Amino acid sequence: MDGVRDYKTPEKVQESAYLLLFWDDEILIKEHEGSITIPLVNDMDFLNLEASDVQYIGLLNGHTYYGANLSGKDSCKGYSFLKLRQLSGYISEEFHAIAFRAFHIINELENNKFCGRCGGVMQLVPQAQEPAVSCLACGHIVYPRISPAIIVAVIKGDQILLARSHRFPPGRYSVIAGFVEPGETLEKCVKREVQEEVGIEVDNIRYFGSQPWPFPDSLMIAFTAEYASGEISVDKKEIAAAGWFSAATLPGIPPPGSISRQLIDWFIDDYRKRILSVNKNTV
Ligand SMILES: [Zn+2]
Repeated sequence: MDGVRDYKTPEKVQESAYLLLFWDDEILIKEHEGSITIPLVNDMDFLNLEASDVQYIGLLNGHTYYGANLSGKDSCKGYSFLKLRQLSGYISEEFHAIAFRAFHIINELENNKFCGRCGGVMQLVPQAQEPAVSCLACGHIVYPRISPAIIVAVIKGDQILLARSHRFPPGRYSVIAGFVEPGETLEKCVKREVQEEVGIEVDNIRYFGSQPWPFPDSLMIAFTAEYASGEISVDKKEIAAAGWFSAATLPGIPPPGSISRQLIDWFIDDYRKRILSVNKNTV
């Protein structure tokens, strides 16, 4: 199967096999006139790279991809490091997906070297359809963990609700987001997160889209919702400030590439369309 989902490890490493190498949350790339390339598995010796546990990741457009964490952060022979979050501006959606998949899997394996139940050594389950690991001592199996989180654009008339987390760079605002709790539906999570963080009620919750976000293991599930009632009252623990913003008065927003930005772009486009249709109707 030609797609990032493929998980049947090839018996032999192809000559054209690519290698996704990470250091912390950065990826090793070569940048040339706005486009990027990554090393081949066969380049490792030539580039003098040291990586532990090179792992097969999947197949894309006839090329196999492998991934690993580097042992040190030495840039070499024209290669440099780029924050994985900043990749989307440079590359196709498919490549973006395989890079995110690799980062998620590599860190998942790194975090599960020993069994959480008995402390035994874990190893990859042979022939598994996913990069699952099992304990050699007790057989406990761990599948890659994916943590669902909601993210929601709340709209009130021609304004969007944006909030500032204490973690954001200065001046940056974004839409509300939070992790789904055990036993909770996505819709309940949207209502709870908005209520907890800014004290308002929402309704007309609609699915917008989703995005894997492997920092470390989230799947962001995006919604739009409409303001129902209440006044903004900021939960000072997670949120530093929040407010309603029109498309013309937006504060600093996340850079392109994240689904939070896609939600804000949707709001701006939708607002423009509504203004245009109002103007058309009044002419
Ligand atoms: Zn065990």
